[in-house]
Amino acid sequence: TMAHSKALLVLENFIGGKFVTCSSYIDSYNPSTGDVYCRVPDSGKEEVEAAVKAAKDAFPIWSSKSPLERSRILNKLADLIEHDLEAFAQAESKDQGKTITFARTVDIPRAVYNFRFFASSILHHTTECTEMATMGCVHYTSRAPVGVAGLISPWNLPLYLLTWKIAPAIACGNTVVAKPSEMTSVTAWMMCKLLEKAGVPHGVVNVVFGTGAKAGEALVCHPDVPLISFTGSTLTAQRITEKSAPHCKRLSLELGGKNPAIIFDDADLTQCIPMTLRSSFANQGEICLCTSRIFVQRGIYSQFLKRFVAEAKKWKVGNPADPTVDVGALISEEHLEKVRSYVKKAQAEGARVLCGEGVDSLTLSAGNQKGYFMLPTVIAEVKDESCCMQEEIFGPVTCVVAFDTEEEVIKRANSVKYGLAATVWSSNVGRVHRVAQRLQSGLVWTNCWLVRDLNLPFGGMKASGIGREGAKDSYEFFTEVKTITIKH
Ligand code: NAD
Repeated sequence: TMAHSKALLVLENFIGGKFVTCSSYIDSYNPSTGDVYCRVPDSGKEEVEAAVKAAKDAFPIWSSKSPLERSRILNKLADLIEHDLEAFAQAESKDQGKTITFARTVDIPRAVYNFRFFASSILHHTTECTEMATMGCVHYTSRAPVGVAGLISPWNLPLYLLTWKIAPAIACGNTVVAKPSEMTSVTAWMMCKLLEKAGVPHGVVNVVFGTGAKAGEALVCHPDVPLISFTGSTLTAQRITEKSAPHCKRLSLELGGKNPAIIFDDADLTQCIPMTLRSSFANQGEICLCTSRIFVQRGIYSQFLKRFVAEAKKWKVGNPADPTVDVGALISEEHLEKVRSYVKKAQAEGARVLCGEGVDSLTLSAGNQKGYFMLPTVIAEVKDESCCMQEEIFGPVTCVVAFDTEEEVIKRANSVKYGLAATVWSSNVGRVHRVAQRLQSGLVWTNCWLVRDLNLPFGGMKASGIGREGAKDSYEFFTEVKTITIKH
């Protein structure tokens, strides 16, 4: 009915500085109620073509601006997003299912910081120069933006991860065509409304909404998009690699994880337990860096398990708009079923589910009965070969197992296809260094989790990705280097 369709939020693509309607749309759900509340453009080749053209047209002017001019614009954009922080946080929470507290304190502040950080770091890069006196030569390098960057991001940290790509790409002088996840497009659309006011010239940032199969693939296959920065699943990355191969595109791939926490018997449990709860269940466990295999040294295993489970049961699940809630809704009904199926598989294999799914009951308020909620779930006595210990679950489920020696736990921690993030808990400095050195993992946090300095490389080993992003790494990815030799 008219009344019904009027109530829906309808997004439009942002191409060449203008909002443009699309010929067809996809329904987007509010995960905490199960209702369709938004319609997202179902873009394809035609829309991507228009966006790439706008980005190409904007490239000569944008790429010739000085880093300082671009830096000022990025800072202005950061200020504008920060000014609307609460509106962005509300939108992110409603669209994604994450708690309002997480959106307010993590997602949106980090999106703001991504622009501020690259606004600053772009001013400080230097290039190389060497002298070859015997040949009468000096060599130096020069860096230039590559062109139109294709940026594809997932649904778990929508604006946070999209801006982690847009900020360095445009700071370096590229123009972009971005495609957020079709399940979480609202905050990207809100950001588009601020671009003109920030001084971003038309065509520098274009956003095309739609599915991966249609809009995403059109972007990956477009001959005028020489680089793709992708964050998402390993399976999609394989497809992107294949599709971009005929064009020899430059790829940055940030993929899944199966992250271990290694807890030695000399760990400070008063810090380790609350932080390991967070690393397991924050954002409903829907963070690529979340812990999902907890290895606890035998001597403290039963004590750890008892305390960990007691604390997990205190996490409040429900309406994400309630600031006292710790766990919101999962992204979709399909994803909820997938996460639940892992718990069933573990039970069928003889593992013990100590709390959460299938063990405790979940009470939801009237408005949230059809939402995609799940209790934090702790599973013990899972075999290392089990799919629950090998595959990324990406939900509020964590497995706890015992180990005896350092040598053994390093081997077991490394025995998965992924290698994104690991945490190590011990008060023995020597051991912390030894273990960190031997873990196959792009990031190792010891006695902490999720502390990031954006100057340093971020990314995964093995099936967790190819390439790194960070101040220097993003600069290298988003620029083309040239070596010039001058003979005098
Ligand atoms: P996904 O791979 O399904 O989708 C990611 C994005 O790719 C979406 O925008 C999607 O529309 C698009 N896409 C899908 N198929 C495509 C195709 N054929 N061509 C082009 N684009 C396509 O991932 P998801 O389910 O949205 O996100 C969850 C995954 O992301 C998890 O595996 C998680 O670990 C990973 N992740 C990794 C990081 C990291 O930094 N390493 C961060 C967050 C999430």
